[in-house]
Amino acid sequence: MKRALMIIAALILLIAASAVVFFLSIEAADVEGFEYKPNQKTIIFSDDGEEIGEIYEENRTYVTLDRIPEDLKNAIVAVEDNRFYIHNGFDLVGITRAFLTNFRAGTISEGASTITQQLARNIFEEISTEKTAARKIKEIKTAVMLEKRFGKEQILEMYLNEIYLGGGAYGVQEASVRYFGKNVWELNLAQCALIAGLPQAPSAYQPDVYFDRAKARQEKVLQRMVEEGFITEDASVGAKAEELEIRNSSSEEKVGRYKKNYEAFIRTVIDEYTEIYKDANYIDKDQEARSEALESLKRDGLRIYTSINAKIQEKAVESVSLAIENYSLTEATGAIVTIDAKNGAILAYYGGTSDIDFASTPRQPGSTLKPLIYSAALQEGIIQENTLLVDRRTDFNGYSPSNFSNRYYGYVTIRQALVQSLNIPAVQTMNDLGIEKTLSYLEEMGIQTIDKEDFRLPTALGGMTYGVTPLDMATAYTIFANGGAKTDPWSILSVDGSNGRNIYRKNLSQTEDDNIIDEDIAEYISGILVDNVVRGTGKNAGNKFVTGGKTGTSSESKDLWFVGFTGNATTSIWLGNPDRKGIGGSGSYCAWGYGEYMSNIGDYLLNSNYNLVSGESGYELETIYVLLDENAISGGSPYVDETMIAELSVLEEDLHFFENVRVLRVEVDRSTGKLFAQGKCLEKDKEVRFYLPENVPEECDKSHILDRLREIFQR
Ligand SMILES: [Zn+2]
Repeated sequence: MKRALMIIAALILLIAASAVVFFLSIEAADVEGFEYKPNQKTIIFSDDGEEIGEIYEENRTYVTLDRIPEDLKNAIVAVEDNRFYIHNGFDLVGITRAFLTNFRAGTISEGASTITQQLARNIFEEISTEKTAARKIKEIKTAVMLEKRFGKEQILEMYLNEIYLGGGAYGVQEASVRYFGKNVWELNLAQCALIAGLPQAPSAYQPDVYFDRAKARQEKVLQRMVEEGFITEDASVGAKAEELEIRNSSSEEKVGRYKKNYEAFIRTVIDEYTEIYKDANYIDKDQEARSEALESLKRDGLRIYTSINAKIQEKAVESVSLAIENYSLTEATGAIVTIDAKNGAILAYYGGTSDIDFASTPRQPGSTLKPLIYSAALQEGIIQENTLLVDRRTDFNGYSPSNFSNRYYGYVTIRQALVQSLNIPAVQTMNDLGIEKTLSYLEEMGIQTIDKEDFRLPTALGGMTYGVTPLDMATAYTIFANGGAKTDPWSILSVDGSNGRNIYRKNLSQTEDDNIIDEDIAEYISGILVDNVVRGTGKNAGNKFVTGGKTGTSSESKDLWFVGFTGNATTSIWLGNPDRKGIGGSGSYCAWGYGEYMSNIGDYLLNSNYNLVSGESGYELETIYVLLDENAISGGSPYVDETMIAELSVLEEDLHFFENVRVLRVEVDRSTGKLFAQGKCLEKDKEVRFYLPENVPEECDKSHILDRLREIFQR
């Protein structure tokens, strides 16, 4: 018997000893080398100070303890760990009480962790929440170490910033904003108690989803506060009776929250940040840079100040939807990009309503490349400003394009070719300039989506493999508003770290200003594009400011474009169907949207240094008639058949270009073949004829008295 007792005692001793050895064998987490650096979200701002997006994995804004209300601190202590200020990280009294409670209830409903243990679990990943003995011991040891290194105040501050409080909110500040739309220091007792109730089961108590549960929990917290002597019974009753207004928030995605209509822009901001991060950290691999940059955005609490202007963006988005509405393009979406041609700042960037960012998706550009091709040809001296281009059906080695209107004008100026968007002169010019040369110019101007299949003449009319993105299109047109130099677009002006210190700033003097075309060529083509908006295919873009631009329409109206500039704000608008079905209409729809855009935002731009000029552009145009073909006069006829004539509107200063092909439109008296004399010749004999200037007949000198008498008698 005694022997048996001794064996039992020895066994107990052995078990106890091995328990001690086991306890000792487990090490605490590395509290010494630990520095509390909670993940903080990155906030993205517009140029005019609006918050346009947040990037985070844990949506958190750090607040110091002095900004957290006493009621909230007390409520947390009362409900989570009432002996917090007494214990040294581990609470034997608390754990015994919890054990007994659980034992009686037959469940494990009451957690036995101190605030310090919970913090230890949250900040040291290696302590899992699983309730195995080893992990529990590690948690306790770590908590005790934390208490030794940090004071109670610091531990409470870390805890209140660290904990998850449901609805995607980490820390008490984010939860206050999330549920009450207030800063944490603005909360009253009732609100503090509600938040303090959440750590136990943040998802189950999430107030905007399970309000009744959250309310019941809040009342329990208030009760505990009374029991702990933090508040009076009266205060508790008052707080319980108070009506709680909980904010609803639908967006809970883990990677962040973007303001509506800024989704595509923020993606370009992330791309640009990746490039900045890659350069700053000497990373070679794109993939590596991408994932590290994303981690940095989710964790580092950056403030990113971007180029986009919220006012301009709002009107830009509006102009796209207005155009879609105005022309009942029910299945269409659209994209718009505005760039400051002087420095490359992206002022507006909208990729449409679908998941695809159409501002960065290449689509067939239609006629929008024509001004770029003429510019390149002028730069290379292939054509001059006074060159007459030939507009007649031409076979380019089996490729014979036709004009949109199916009319041909014979000889035309570059101005006429652009304003009427004639196809043959554009193809001819590309042919003369050379295909390789043309495409190398387009690439230099900023078009990044050129395919090897694009090295052929149909590219002049926008027949490309992929096409051009609205962003590249707006970039290319900066040459017209910037004296011949292309400006590279950018979106990030500066980045500050979470401590407020600047870590990146865009070097604005860095923008290249190597001219792609000479300033006078840029001015010449700009002038024509302004003319095009005054009277040509871009007429719908007209507004009270001097505006230039070009429309584009791809085959079967699958893509509608307007690319233009007002002052140095350069814009491209694209409309089309995501599935590339035709939507009907033409680029003039986009021009109309542009007109609305400038009417709405022009005054703002005028006052914001974008060099807008209000008023008419003042082009005096004359209508003239020209031969379609120099050999049109034949068969000995003194005048030219009407079918061989084209009517043109020409700037007075361009008239001399047409010396050799110009004909005069006159009215003649058919009975005499002389010029019709008003009041003398008979109306029935009046006929319109076209003569070379030297062949115009003299005025009719016949009296016609007999003719008139004959007429009276015949009646
Ligand atoms: Zn007559």
